Amino acid sequence: MKNSELDNLIICHKCHTLHEKVPLEEGKKALCTQCNIVLYQNDKYMIDKTLALVITAFISLIVAFQFTIVTININGLEQSLNLSSLFVVIVEHKQYIVGIMLLFLIVIFPFVILISMFFLLLYMKLGKAEYLVRRLLILLAHIRPWSMVDIFFISLLVAMVKLFDVAQIELGVSFAAFIFTLFLDAIITKNISFYELWEHHDKIYGTNNA
Ligand SMILES: [Zn+2]
Repeated sequence: MKNSELDNLIICHKCHTLHEKVPLEEGKKALCTQCNIVLYQNDKYMIDKTLALVITAFISLIVAFQFTIVTININGLEQSLNLSSLFVVIVEHKQYIVGIMLLFLIVIFPFVILISMFFLLLYMKLGKAEYLVRRLLILLAHIRPWSMVDIFFISLLVAMVKLFDVAQIELGVSFAAFIFTLFLDAIITKNISFYELWEHHDKIYGTNNA
């Protein structure tokens, strides 16, 4: 089979069913016949929309890390938890490896991902910096699975549920910001796939020098 023929086929990344690609009207989506997920779409505002979501997610993540997540009150003893107090506790207990892992998985990687997405989409929109865009796409494919803000948040929920009987728990601003960030992240992931980003890349910069 020639490359051009292969280009007309698309595999569902969820159920691995093979589909033939057909041209789509503006604003339409092609769904997998087996599991209904979006295979590809024709939306000329996709990059702009995703760019707006990425900027919002970035601000929301800063808010999530800046303020109090929860305030725990056990018999009048009150303790506010935010990201920096969490790291202070970790250092006090000399759990440096846990601290470094946490720093990478919930702070550095998520921010690197959002910043990379921002520049990637911005340069794609401008049709500039082809080399950088390609590097960012490769970088993102590698580090995306290593953002664990969602797992951190779920662990926090589990810990809170365990404290319900013994403590009074008050939710802070960051708690809402975490939910908002994860919600935005889910929309971004659903909106645009790596496959589509590469498609956009090829459309904008051409495939001849890839
Ligand atoms: Zn499928």
